[in-house]
Amino acid sequence: MNVIETNKLTKTYGNNRGINELELKVLESDFFGFIGPNGAGKSTTIRTLLGLIKPTAGSAKVLGFDIENEKEKILKNTGYLPSEINFYNGMKVWDVIKYSLDLRGIKKYEKARSLSERLGVDLDKKVSELSLGNRKKVGIITAISHSPNLLILDEPTSGLDPLMQREFFNILNEENKRGATIFLSSHVLSEVQSNCKTAAFIKDGKIIMSDKVENLEQTGTKKVVVKTKEEISEYLYRGEVNELIRELAKKNMVDVSITEPSLEEIFMEYYE
Ligand code: ADP
Repeated sequence: MNVIETNKLTKTYGNNRGINELELKVLESDFFGFIGPNGAGKSTTIRTLLGLIKPTAGSAKVLGFDIENEKEKILKNTGYLPSEINFYNGMKVWDVIKYSLDLRGIKKYEKARSLSERLGVDLDKKVSELSLGNRKKVGIITAISHSPNLLILDEPTSGLDPLMQREFFNILNEENKRGATIFLSSHVLSEVQSNCKTAAFIKDGKIIMSDKVENLEQTGTKKVVVKTKEEISEYLYRGEVNELIRELAKKNMVDVSITEPSLEEIFMEYYE
């Protein structure tokens, strides 16, 4: 079953493009990375999927619910971490966490306490006193504590130090193992490559590729570095290897290397 399914989902802001006829499918229990540079349309996609902004055209279903007519049901069954988190500044951290659980009618606080401990959050501080990274942690705790079927996290790791990022991904893996679908956006390819099962790349408001991470890594593309007396040239080659060798044989080379490109290099080629 598709937990997220869009059909030509479009959102424009006046004359500005947000997302344009976006086609996205996310399977139940997937661990999905949504990759793209700033301004590509990641937040617009996420906010539209959650019914927080209205699409200009197209449609989408999340957890089988229509984003325009059934958004309450979507929000009830989803944990959402926005890219920028705002809390009532006068409140203490624990009050924010408890309040968000109370709103959902949940009276069990063990999971929230355990997550707070693992992420090293001081529950007695006022949220107004927190650093960006610590606000992020509180947002993560409120997104996960009610054990939602779907977690949608907008740039969750920005502002977290590397140790915390690791613990955060440990937590997400546990959520994924219990059956939750994880959907996170990121502009850091390496974290998606090492943590997600599936990745989609967004550019200028459109998905340019989407596949299992292991397939994306094996595109048959070669990275070729050729050194002649005059210059060093470096490029990605897609196609028949015999043809490549015939072409190379015509050059007077000092050195050559043919290797597998990293996903980063394949990705950069798409964005250039
Ligand atoms: P990302 O999350 O990938 O950084 P966004 O979804 O925030 O990208 O933005 C996608 C595009 O939509 C950008 O060109 C951005 O300038 C534009 N955009 C986003 N929000 C607004 C808004 N409230 N008003 C006008 N343009 C917006």
